[in-house]
Amino acid sequence: MELTNKRVLVVGLGRSGIASALFLRSRGAQVTVSDSKSEDQLREEIPRLLDYGIAVETGGHGERTFRNQDLIVVSPGVPTDAEALTQARALGQPVIGEIQLAFDFLPGALIAITGSNGKTTTTTLVGNILESAGWRTLVGGNIGTPAISLVQEATPETVAVLEVSSFQLETIVSFRPKVALILNVTPDHLDRHRTFSAYVDAKARIFENQQPEDFAVLNQDDATCRNLGGRPRAQVFWFSRHEEVEQGAFVSEQQIFFRRGGSEEAIMAIREIPLKGAHNLENVLAAVCVAKLMNCAAAGIRATVASFKAVEHRLEYVATIGGVEYYNDSKATNVDATIKALESFPGNIHLILGGKDKGSDYTVLGDLLRARVKQVYTIGAAAEKIHSQTQQAAKVVASGTIESAVRQAAEAAKPGDVVLLAPACASFDQFEDYQQRGRVFKELVHKLSARS
Ligand code: ADP
Repeated sequence: MELTNKRVLVVGLGRSGIASALFLRSRGAQVTVSDSKSEDQLREEIPRLLDYGIAVETGGHGERTFRNQDLIVVSPGVPTDAEALTQARALGQPVIGEIQLAFDFLPGALIAITGSNGKTTTTTLVGNILESAGWRTLVGGNIGTPAISLVQEATPETVAVLEVSSFQLETIVSFRPKVALILNVTPDHLDRHRTFSAYVDAKARIFENQQPEDFAVLNQDDATCRNLGGRPRAQVFWFSRHEEVEQGAFVSEQQIFFRRGGSEEAIMAIREIPLKGAHNLENVLAAVCVAKLMNCAAAGIRATVASFKAVEHRLEYVATIGGVEYYNDSKATNVDATIKALESFPGNIHLILGGKDKGSDYTVLGDLLRARVKQVYTIGAAAEKIHSQTQQAAKVVASGTIESAVRQAAEAAKPGDVVLLAPACASFDQFEDYQQRGRVFKELVHKLSARS
């Protein structure tokens, strides 16, 4: 795609929007950016854009801005059915997302990873395995570096491992990964996709441009993934922790195997995996499958998995103080992730729950609370709702803040117990984001250890 002197509009000034605008400008396009936020809210970003000769529109999208563009690049935060975009499409103007733009300029192999949960963990793990197998590896997308920013470093010899979200997949056109992986599909983001089937369809678009020489990887233990098995044109590989698969990665007698074309290879023993929880075993199986499809050797895969540390805020081990283990799963921002966290420990859990409610039903935690949790500590705006929906199943302490919750849990916990932050809620009522919430939790825990 030739960009010199093309008129390009970037809609939405998040990290990927800014990166797209700068990239397009560096290729000689005449770039305008448009965001519904006010000039004041964007005061940090605007000067840099103006310096590069990028026109900036704030406080809404002017109708004229969307006319006479050669290309419109939309950020994942902007609904694809926004009025201005619908009109632009009606005028025949191409509307694409940032990962499509990146795809158009990324040389080298491409691996794309999506799913409702586990994307970041699996993307990071796949990146590490490929890197240690000798690939020059670039990791980005929905995590860390926006996909478009990888273009600078990419060559025909590099491999780009991209975490992609359902929102990003809604705006692809010819995006075609060599290996495409869907980890799982559970209800999430239904506020934007409206129905579950629309959400599933968005995720399945990851396969839409693949060809028979490409690979599609799916979770055989996930009902929705199983139903997607017929969709890819690419060769389908499965992973499962429960049963042997025809092609792909599975567990047998506590060992992980990879099977392809009738022959089988032992990769590693399950006990060598340092990450907690059955969900992380699924992430490892998925990563093994991708790595084998990229021709990595079993010994290297095994060594990298065995030394892999949990990504920060994902069931991250913090410390053991007075015989009590502390885990930070601040990224557990929905009830499903909290269930997975609880399933990762046999019992004696002190669970910190709460934050900004997303309309969730906390009663589904009941059985696990009864079986594994000694006490719940509620924080934030959702505290009362959580209290009323969980008090049948567990002793609930209204802590209010994370400071009180950590102190009260530390006082109550006995050697052998676990204190777990897996709040099942968004963080925005008391924190900037889940990262800050996790960092505050870790600081509080480290202060405990300084005192004891
Ligand atoms: P994502 O990038 O999809 O949000 P993360 O790796 O950041 O995924 O993990 C998000 C949350 O989901 C964490 O609380 C983590 O412990 C949990 N999780 C990780 N992998 C899985 C999985 N395969 N299935 C369900 N939950 C998972």
